[in-house]
Amino acid sequence: MKLSIVYYGDPILRKKTPLLEEVNDELALLAQNMVETMDANNGIGLAAPQIGKSLRMFVLRNYITREDGRIELTEPQVFINPKITVLDDRVQEEDESCISIPRLAGSVTRPYHIRVEAMGLDGQPFTEEVEGYKARVIMHENDHLNGVLFIDRLSERERKKLEPHLKALKKKHGK
Ligand SMILES: [Zn+2]
Repeated sequence: MKLSIVYYGDPILRKKTPLLEEVNDELALLAQNMVETMDANNGIGLAAPQIGKSLRMFVLRNYITREDGRIELTEPQVFINPKITVLDDRVQEEDESCISIPRLAGSVTRPYHIRVEAMGLDGQPFTEEVEGYKARVIMHENDHLNGVLFIDRLSERERKKLEPHLKALKKKHGK
């Protein structure tokens, strides 16, 4: 089932989500609906606050390049209670956008190489070492769980440029 997206201006996007105590059928169904919603919005990551739930969980897909050079999306992955560790000093700078902040993009510098520890839908902990674009997506989604948005990480100049659009969004979706 496709869920409604919460947009910039809604205070839930600024709330830090609490740790999830257990994985149950309800949560598994929600994760499945979040994947459907992410796909329907052509996103490759979606965090629970973006569908109006203050839960410590996000879903994502990753791009992979096949042997014939075609780019495909991987199966979805679910991260519950993620914890990120930056593994070295390398950084990456690239444009980011967000389903909850439509039609805006801006350049964000993030660490390049991270380790993420999280729990899957089976309730089992897992650890993954990630570099590059997937690391960026994980950090963007993890930010959502802490009430942080990519626009908070822009240079002052870039943020100023987007400010009129953000004001308009806030007027439309703010509570
Ligand atoms: Zn986002």
